[in-house]
Amino acid sequence: MLGDVRPSASRRSWWLREALAAEAATAPHLASAAAAPPLRGTITADLVIVGGGYTGLWTALRAAELEPGARVVLLEADICGGGPSGRNGGFATNWWDEYPTLVERYGGDGARAVGQAIEGAVDELGTFCAEHGIDAWYTKAGSLTASAAPAQDDAWLASLEKLRRDGLGDRLVPLSADEVASRVRSPVFRAGVFMPGAATVQPAALARGLRRVALERGVTIAEGTEVIELDGQRPGWLGSVGARARRAPARRGNGQGFRPVRIRTRSSAGDGEVLAGAAVLGLNAWAAAWPWFGRRLVTWSSYIVLTEPIPDRLADLGWTGGEGLADARFTLHYLRTTPDGRIALGGGGGRAGFGGRIGAAFTDDLGDVRRAAAGLRRLFPSLADVRIEDAWGGPIDITADHLPWFGSIPGRPIHVGHGYSGNGVAPAVVGGRILAAKGLERADDPVLALPLASGRPPRPFPPEPARYVGARLIREAAVRRESMEELERDPGAVLREVSRLPRRLGYHLGPD
Ligand SMILES: Cc1cc2nc3c(=O)[nH]c(=O)nc-3n(C[C@H](O)[C@H](O)[C@H](O)COP(=O)(O)OP(=O)(O)OC[C@H]3O[C@@H](n4cnc5c(N)ncnc54)[C@H](O)[C@@H]3O)c2cc1C
Repeated sequence: MLGDVRPSASRRSWWLREALAAEAATAPHLASAAAAPPLRGTITADLVIVGGGYTGLWTALRAAELEPGARVVLLEADICGGGPSGRNGGFATNWWDEYPTLVERYGGDGARAVGQAIEGAVDELGTFCAEHGIDAWYTKAGSLTASAAPAQDDAWLASLEKLRRDGLGDRLVPLSADEVASRVRSPVFRAGVFMPGAATVQPAALARGLRRVALERGVTIAEGTEVIELDGQRPGWLGSVGARARRAPARRGNGQGFRPVRIRTRSSAGDGEVLAGAAVLGLNAWAAAWPWFGRRLVTWSSYIVLTEPIPDRLADLGWTGGEGLADARFTLHYLRTTPDGRIALGGGGGRAGFGGRIGAAFTDDLGDVRRAAAGLRRLFPSLADVRIEDAWGGPIDITADHLPWFGSIPGRPIHVGHGYSGNGVAPAVVGGRILAAKGLERADDPVLALPLASGRPPRPFPPEPARYVGARLIREAAVRRESMEELERDPGAVLREVSRLPRRLGYHLGPD
């Protein structure tokens, strides 16, 4: 099945290769590196954005919309969409399946408002793509979670009951085993739950489309430009291990004695510098290397395998509706189809990184790819002969409550958005609005009334090396426990208890 396919940082994801080829054919002037040349020398900006994934790009677009004359500069170490925004599964799901956590964190009204904002973001993705001619295969066909073992049955019950009680029962619809089978037939699927408000996209086509519109709106984008120093701080995976940032002096008054954010960069063109009124950091897992955030993020790898086109086999499975699909493990498998009849499947485990280091473990791990391929075989044994044509991985940014944080560095006009915990496609739309409003000091922007815009920073994790060792141990226990449960074997008290440890310690992570 896997043949000689190997994941490698040196090869772009299939999504991104496709998106770049389409871009070169349809908008060669914007596709070329000359449209977003690396930074050289010193420039000034009203708002500087670091990171050219969804968070940075939506922020840039929203900032250009809020203040058309503002000088907005976006710096990206690779190319826009080179990170997880061009490598993810393309599931644009809402947060109703996380509703109990939302209520716990934001209260009843806050949870409803946040849930509705993310729900709206899924629709906005579709509208935006249609308005700007972005062919990102936006398909709003919902998302199906199916139990694939008795231990996974009713994993969604708590969300379902709470939603019903609050009059939101239509957001997640329980399905019988027969109803699941009418959407997709698998010998291991049992009952399930359907999220009608979910969509899928071609993730890299979306990222590159956002880049195109940002350029058209006058945003200056510098690709191949790595930020090496920000406001006197430097990233470093050793530096982040238990390090505490020096507290920067507070911003003083309105312009009087104001100290701009100073950024130093490195690129093939030479050294660069940006002096800006405010900064937004959309760094995803790379944020863990910066001293401000290291303790509040665990970096985690996630891998995807992509099959050859098999439209006839999909028809045999009855899976032709375009809906996203997942099992109900904590170490879940998620699958979706493509217009040419492929399956992209991700997940099945992943691994924690050490400190803030984003190295080869996030892009080149054959073991995790094998695990993903094994997941596909288990869910659809009839596809055992189907060729896997590509595989790739990327880092995700996990917080203690599995929700992103849109906050600010105390006393400085530096705003950050990260911690999507593997669910950033739709939330980044809202995140971009929040971050642009903060960066341009639009205190009256209604998006800032969302509790998501003012939440406290996520709870810290234990310092390294305890964080790394603990995460590896718990992950191993969780994967083994869930694999044994799939075989309907008792994992035993030790595996069960170790895998539950994060929950016992108050983190919203790991199986229950
Ligand atoms: C395999 C995989 C599958 C996933 N599947 C899904 C899914 O189906 N649905 C979903 O909602 N989410 C999914 N996610 C998560 C989703 O991709 C992310 O939440 C989302 O892309 C985050 O966007 P971002 O802009 O914050 O981060 P990114 O896209 O990672 O962008 C951050 C950018 O910052 C740049 N950068 C870092 N450091 C520097 C620096 N010092 N200087 C300059 N630039 C820098 C990086 O190069 C990168 O391009 C998945 C993630 C992975 C890895």
